[in-house]
Amino acid sequence: MGTASLGPAERAAALARMEAEELDVVVVGGGVVGAGVALDAVTRGLTVGLIEARDFASGTSSRSSKLIHGGLRYLEQYNFDLVREALQERSLLLQRIAPHLVRPVPFLFPLTHHVWERAYVGSGLVLYDSLGFTPGSTRGVPGHRHLSRGRALRLAPALKRSALTGAVLYWDAQVDDARYVVTLLRTAAAYGAHVASRTQMVGFLREGERVTGVRVRDLETGREADVRARQVVNATGVWTDEIQGLVGGRGQIHVRASKGIHLVVPRDRIHSSTGIILRTEKSVLFVIPWGRHWIIGTTDTRWDLDRSHPAASRSDIDYVLDHVNAVLAVPLTRDDVEGVYAGLRPLLAGESEETSKLSREHVVTHPVPGLVMVAGGKYTTYRIMARDAVDAVAHGLDQRVPPSCTDRIPLAGADGYPALWNSRYHLAERSGLHVARIEHLLHRYGTMIDEVLTLVAEDRSLARPLAGADDYLRAEVVYAATHEGARHLNDVLTRRTRISIETFHRGVGVAQEAAELLAGPLGWDFDQVKREVEYYTKRVEAERSSQEQDTDQEADAIRLGAPEIVPVPPPDKRPVR
Ligand SMILES: Cc1cc2nc3c(=O)[nH]c(=O)nc-3n(C[C@H](O)[C@H](O)[C@H](O)COP(=O)(O)OP(=O)(O)OC[C@H]3O[C@@H](n4cnc5c(N)ncnc54)[C@H](O)[C@@H]3O)c2cc1C
Repeated sequence: MGTASLGPAERAAALARMEAEELDVVVVGGGVVGAGVALDAVTRGLTVGLIEARDFASGTSSRSSKLIHGGLRYLEQYNFDLVREALQERSLLLQRIAPHLVRPVPFLFPLTHHVWERAYVGSGLVLYDSLGFTPGSTRGVPGHRHLSRGRALRLAPALKRSALTGAVLYWDAQVDDARYVVTLLRTAAAYGAHVASRTQMVGFLREGERVTGVRVRDLETGREADVRARQVVNATGVWTDEIQGLVGGRGQIHVRASKGIHLVVPRDRIHSSTGIILRTEKSVLFVIPWGRHWIIGTTDTRWDLDRSHPAASRSDIDYVLDHVNAVLAVPLTRDDVEGVYAGLRPLLAGESEETSKLSREHVVTHPVPGLVMVAGGKYTTYRIMARDAVDAVAHGLDQRVPPSCTDRIPLAGADGYPALWNSRYHLAERSGLHVARIEHLLHRYGTMIDEVLTLVAEDRSLARPLAGADDYLRAEVVYAATHEGARHLNDVLTRRTRISIETFHRGVGVAQEAAELLAGPLGWDFDQVKREVEYYTKRVEAERSSQEQDTDQEADAIRLGAPEIVPVPPPDKRPVR
């Protein structure tokens, strides 16, 4: 299987194909669930289109804690099936589906009481480790270990001595969530799926009660078109209810948004060789290693305001700082915070439970013929959600559809990855790049590194790092546009790279250079370069001042002051026909 690019020409071709033929399935939503559905459906031999109103993964799927995990705390809720399923997915993703993107990560669980807590946490982790075994495969991460206070402090000297009596070390896995989605979509496209971002579903096509496709608007041009499909899958996360409203309010799923924020601080601010998990009153707080940084989070509060740009308030930031500072010998201050991001969990709404107790499990429904809705769940179990949604699609199609095979489909860049990793020193020699750079590129592109290195070989100026974000090469910016579906500066600085949260300037310091690099592949003139930089800068300014506000309402109002480079109007309320 070759690789597929998601550049501007491929987007235009995908839109043309979606308009020209009746598809088996059209998927609405380009987060991890929609992307997973597209891959599942196309690898079962179905014809597939996918539309995303914003940038790929710009909803929740770029704003998570980035853990591929079973969720230790679900054990306390006796939700063993959920934990087992998620841990089996962890094993698959780590070892077969995406070994280049998903990596093991250790966590220290500090204990604060003597005997009983060690027994309690220890037995939880015995269970956690054993639920992680998949028949015929290994767990993919080491087992847990008990540590004395002295050993724990040697691993994490940043912790206050008084903050622990001992600890347990256990392993989970992590991923760059936004990059994973783009890789899923590139894999789906390589199997023949037609994929387009900045394309909004604005209404359903109907024949009587039956849904027969969707009306879409290309938000870059304003052009509208019909996409006919035998089944439509709605995978719009926290926008589920809005889409459901378009079928006349007959839906059966209600999704509530719960906000979680994360802080990013430089690695040297917390002296530790392992991640840390802390209990909070409501849930847990993670300190997660992230390259040369730490990601710290998260919160869990109800959110009924703007869903495209959930804003972190001063109170959210103080909550995270207060909790982490409770265990750190040298407390963090707001000046240590490089980046902040907020995301919305798509929770299946129950009666009147608190958001942290709402269900993380997913549902699939078929509210009217021709329409499948999938919602809830978590990132780790996206493949299971996709499989269940396509099973429902198959049920609605009048033909035999083979079972899901995505457990055997490595993502683009995975095939041959271990061998390429082992020859990274040769790659470094051949390309003239330092081996540390090659490792960084292998972790981001896997075996597709060749495509990036070709850009570098053709133009040596692309081998230079960005001035002001030197973890990233200039070639990666160009590649984001030519191969990874980035259409605007924000897409590159926020999701294809993580410069917007990994630098104190939040990307503003490299905006001009990156925009100039994008101008060629995206066909921008001088004015467009200027416009892209202005919009990006305004966004960062609005986010910074929203983070000074005490309440969600104030933070939201200020964040919304920064306009979108490609606005997304509310979809049409009336059915098209
Ligand atoms: C703070 C936080 C931390 C988390 N941490 C973890 C974790 O560590 N591990 C884990 O497993 N899970 C985690 N999760 C959960 C996980 O991130 C989500 O369950 C998952 O990303 C949801 O993906 P999705 O595809 O359903 O939604 P989304 O990613 O939001 O995708 C929906 C997409 O639909 C698009 N859309 C909406 N309307 C339209 C329309 N009309 N036309 C076209 N497109 C449309 C949106 O633009 C959006 O991109 C976390 C969530 C949060 C908020």
